[in-house]
Amino acid sequence: MQRRPSGSRERPGWYTIVDGRLYCRGYLTPYLWYLTPEEAVYVLGEVHIGICRSHVDGKNLAFKIIRQDYYWPLMKKDALEFVKKCESI
Ligand SMILES: [Zn+2]
Repeated sequence: MQRRPSGSRERPGWYTIVDGRLYCRGYLTPYLWYLTPEEAVYVLGEVHIGICRSHVDGKNLAFKIIRQDYYWPLMKKDALEFVKKCESI
């Protein structure tokens, strides 16, 4: 397997397509569903407010999303920004 260039801290190491969907390998689960930006916004809202109505903080939000087997490259940053916006309303 080819290693990623040093400096790239993006995980994971490989991707695969199943039934037209892009998946990538996670640390906790074999496959994470790689979300498009539109899907990511939807999942951020669902997990942050829709499902548990708990308004979790950004760090926990990203963690809960990855526990649902979802992934996208900037999920932690997006989760922090999403929570900031939510709190400012
Ligand atoms: Zn909130």
